[in-house]
Amino acid sequence: MAKYDLIIIGGGPAGYAATVSALEAGMKVAVIEKERIGGVCVNFGCIPTKALLRFAALKKEGQDISYKDAVKQAERIADERSRSVIKLLESLGGRIISGKAVKVETGKVTVDSGEVIEGTNILIATGSAARKLPIAEYDDTHIITSKEALEMDSVPGNAVVVGTGATGIELATVWSRFGSSVTVLEMLPNIMGFDDSEISSEAVNAYEEQGIIIKTEVTVTEVKKAGEKVSVKYTDAAGQHEIITDRVLVAAGIIPVTEGMGLEELGMDIQRGSIQIDNNMRTNIEGIYAAGDVTGKMALAYVSSKQGKNAVAAMLGKPCDPIDYMMTPRCIFSAIEGSFVGPTEKQAKAMGLNVVAKKVPVVSFNGNYVGNISGIAKIVADAGSNKALGISIMGPDAADYIAAPALMISNGSGLSEVADVIRSGR
Ligand SMILES: Cc1cc2nc3c(=O)[nH]c(=O)nc-3n(C[C@H](O)[C@H](O)[C@H](O)COP(=O)(O)OP(=O)(O)OC[C@H]3O[C@@H](n4cnc5c(N)ncnc54)[C@H](O)[C@@H]3O)c2cc1C
Repeated sequence: MAKYDLIIIGGGPAGYAATVSALEAGMKVAVIEKERIGGVCVNFGCIPTKALLRFAALKKEGQDISYKDAVKQAERIADERSRSVIKLLESLGGRIISGKAVKVETGKVTVDSGEVIEGTNILIATGSAARKLPIAEYDDTHIITSKEALEMDSVPGNAVVVGTGATGIELATVWSRFGSSVTVLEMLPNIMGFDDSEISSEAVNAYEEQGIIIKTEVTVTEVKKAGEKVSVKYTDAAGQHEIITDRVLVAAGIIPVTEGMGLEELGMDIQRGSIQIDNNMRTNIEGIYAAGDVTGKMALAYVSSKQGKNAVAAMLGKPCDPIDYMMTPRCIFSAIEGSFVGPTEKQAKAMGLNVVAKKVPVVSFNGNYVGNISGIAKIVADAGSNKALGISIMGPDAADYIAAPALMISNGSGLSEVADVIRSGR
């Protein structure tokens, strides 16, 4: 029976970052991956969507590029990235096992090939999958999640996207820029996670300028095939409605992947679907750690990688740099972007803080090219000291703007200093 210092289940950002850290520290490591090294981020998430957004921007600028070619290029980029991760892990001496981990026990993991691997430490980095709504009859071609969306070689004539989180907004933008008529349905009063109705409605208007219709405060009640089309039924304050469309992307969040590994029998603490961890990524089972989306902390590639590295530091008894999830920037990359760091006004109030909030315009010269759209930032500060606590930014390039305020807020800057930086534009 093969014996390792560390067995990692899942070769996504959490798993491969942990593998590199552990190998560099001299540990003997095996990574079990059932699909593709690089995980969702490299193969079906961050990398291909950012590539498609870039091609969509070029299309908007008038370049002659077909959606089929854009998808091919995105796949090529993802494939190259996956292969370079494999090369890195192998060059450092890691063993990659292609297969599915089907049973986790203290000190050992069984793979679907029947192989049993022994390890002093185990890291569960199995990531997440798209949350499927019971009201939608998914068929992988007309009613789909983001994974199938990235495999299609044409955009629908018209489409409905359910959800205005990062996945929904990004793919709605891509499809629209390649010629689709897109309607986005959002259950909440505000879109993209903004807690301010003025900012949200500015964003809705800006998207309408781009040709994307967004309807808020709607409840989707049924999504099902109607011949070669799809019927989407929803209700809002005015009553019940139906849209007949070509394709529906349901982007309603994610669920951690914890099933099929015997974790319940092992007594793993799993709450609301997520593996519970302490600050050192330890689960409640001795010698078993978890990192990435499976922990339900923050579904971002860079957070997953950091968690993976922290887990290895903890295994080695080294101090790890704890993650301040609230102070980690979160972005929606798109035509009209959203970026956040620290608490929003509502979150700060819910935390019992006495806060003031100020809105400032965001001048983006790039905004001219998406249709003279300017943005807004909302800064939240402590009412007594005026120290900035958080910021939400909406507009073209909002994701690029977040770095400076994030650093300033961490360093204790005041509200007006952060406002000055935002006003200076770019
Ligand atoms: C459309 C989309 C766009 C995104 N864009 C961004 C972005 O721009 N920036 C950003 O920071 N984040 C983005 N994300 C989020 C990011 O992809 C995830 O946060 C990140 O991939 C999580 O990394 P992970 O290692 O936890 O899991 P994953 O990347 O999900 O990797 C987990 C791996 O585990 C494997 N696995 C699961 N179960 C088993 C098993 N039993 N045995 C063996 N292998 C198993 C899976 O096959 C998978 O490869 C995006 C996500 C999506 C869906």
